[in-house]
Amino acid sequence: MAKKIVAANWKMNNDEYSSKSLAYEFLKLVSRQNNIETIKIICVPFPFLATINLMCQGAESVFVGAQNCSSHDKGAFTGEVSANMLQSLKIPYVIIGHSERRELFFEKNKDLIKKVELAIENNISPIFCCGEPLGIREKNNHIDYVINQLEETVFNLNTEDFSRLILAYEPIWAIGTGKTASNEEIQEMHSAIRKSITKKYGSSISQKTSVLYGGSVKSVNAKEIFDLKDVDGGLIGGASLNAQEFIDIVNSNN
Ligand code: PEP
Repeated sequence: MAKKIVAANWKMNNDEYSSKSLAYEFLKLVSRQNNIETIKIICVPFPFLATINLMCQGAESVFVGAQNCSSHDKGAFTGEVSANMLQSLKIPYVIIGHSERRELFFEKNKDLIKKVELAIENNISPIFCCGEPLGIREKNNHIDYVINQLEETVFNLNTEDFSRLILAYEPIWAIGTGKTASNEEIQEMHSAIRKSITKKYGSSISQKTSVLYGGSVKSVNAKEIFDLKDVDGGLIGGASLNAQEFIDIVNSNN
């Protein structure tokens, strides 16, 4: 069985004080009712990783993740943050290939596989994002598009490395727009992803791979999405910036 996971992507929001307050509120709510069957990962901005990681120590099933890492291991890359730096802070997860990185920072599949490999070498599990733009869906090419994203990146990993991954399907047209994909659209894609993993790595690995859905998930729609057969949890953007809303989403995944 794949692990149930709900990950927060705080993106570039909040300063140090409000990030610590948000983490504190979230941990307070977790301590009242911790659904330990569901792994909770909060992906915070780089400057706050160390502090929030420390705050989360001792909270069962709560982990901290980064939102990106460099495709280079070290050297003259001003402003970049390496997977090795994240490892030195004991950060266990990193989001790689978010559509905002692909679209706004022109990250290509060939860069993303390097990031994935460096993360794994540094004992960090990537949360690897895939998803199609609206135009591709309108042409009914969405499944081929997403499977091709996986084939050009993570399907090049060996079985052991692939089994370190969490996948997140995030249709670009549903991110931050308030537009959620329908349950049928979500299940159709998750089932196609699951089948492609089975074809490449076998059914045992496929069943153990957590495939999350992301795109305007909120507490009002989380349960019906998480109950879909091939959905193991969610990657949550906007709604994760409110501790109560985020915990309500987490508690919908049981
Ligand atoms: C995201 O950025 O990964 C995301 C899913 O955002 P939102 O929940 O705001 O659509």
